[in-house]
Amino acid sequence: SGDRIMVKAKAIRVHELGGPEVMRWEEVELGDPKEGEIRIKTTAIGVNFIDVYFRKGVYAAPALPFTPGSPINSFSSDCVKFLLTKFNSSTNNIGMEAVGVVTAVGPGLTGRKVGDVVAYAGNPMGSYAQEQILPASVAVPVPPSVDHKQAASVMLKGMTAHVLLRRVFKVESGHTVLVHAAAGGVGSLLCQWANALGATVIGTVSNEEKAAQATQDGCHHVIIYTKEDVVARVKEITSGKGVNVVYDSVGKDTYKASVECLASRGFLVSFGQSSGKPDPIPMSDLASKSLFLTRPSLMHYTATRDELLESAGEVFANVANGVLRVRVNHTYLLSEAARAHADLEGRKTSGSIVLIPDT
Ligand code: NDP
Repeated sequence: SGDRIMVKAKAIRVHELGGPEVMRWEEVELGDPKEGEIRIKTTAIGVNFIDVYFRKGVYAAPALPFTPGSPINSFSSDCVKFLLTKFNSSTNNIGMEAVGVVTAVGPGLTGRKVGDVVAYAGNPMGSYAQEQILPASVAVPVPPSVDHKQAASVMLKGMTAHVLLRRVFKVESGHTVLVHAAAGGVGSLLCQWANALGATVIGTVSNEEKAAQATQDGCHHVIIYTKEDVVARVKEITSGKGVNVVYDSVGKDTYKASVECLASRGFLVSFGQSSGKPDPIPMSDLASKSLFLTRPSLMHYTATRDELLESAGEVFANVANGVLRVRVNHTYLLSEAARAHADLEGRKTSGSIVLIPDT
């Protein structure tokens, strides 16, 4: 008869930009996945700071109702173009990262079957949903040894750590690295991994509790920036030399100190703006120490299927072998996503935040 079976699910959707309160818990209807798509029943959802940027409009949305993912406009790979074509379509769900069990596969799709457990970072249709449709090309299989909450914490955050430490700047034994927000979701993974690579790791955090976690995560030196001067402490720790690389996700409040903390020929890797967008740095300012400056986005480093599988594979291997201890420090019901956002923005969280779909 051609009748399509509609699946009803609840999702968090955003109809206007603003604070956590703009997130609404609504019923959505999902059809069958089309060519190249799968449908999954979500089991765990990763909350990321990028979700906050989208919700607030730090990353401009093309039009309201808000469709998350608009910054992908500037991306160019085939995979990403495919995502882009989906952006302006039907949904205004929010969220980038999730894990779930496949409930339907699109026509002609091979290599995926109902019952598979998959995870992804970057569903243009949003991840804050009980059930959802996504392009099969962004999904990777989750090894049975990794539980769903962990997997939902390491697709976006873990692959970011991989890309930052192995591809954007290749950390080697003997390097000294500075990680801001060292107790955060990405920060915790960065510190553990950098330590395992043999680097001397310096982390910055806001309080004692986060400092204790950062120390456990392999930071050799932790600076509590609310009490200590970051530049002075880094100079002291490095005997005046500075660090080889700064991983800076805080942005506005930290970038100046980050530049000052760098050694000659050091790398400033600016990969986020939790405190707001950093001001422009005049290119001539780089000359004083022959510095490098880069502003990477995970999507550009996982643009091909091979790159995606390589990054996800490295991350899952390091979770399995214990190099990465995934700290799922906060879980909320999906319907309580607003509370999760408020806590993340309020610097109240450490490690990863996971939403569990209400049953
Ligand atoms: P975090 O868990 O790191 O949370 C943010 C932390 O940043 C806070 O806990 C806080 O730690 C610190 N912070 C400092 N200043 C502020 C402020 N004004 N407001 C809020 N937080 C502040 O979040 P995620 O792990 O999800 O993300 C970390 C960063 O990495 C984000 O900036 C995100 O955008 C970026 N990112 C970038 C990617 C890319 O491809 N470029 C991919 C993935 C993440 P403290 O209390 O110690 O100050």
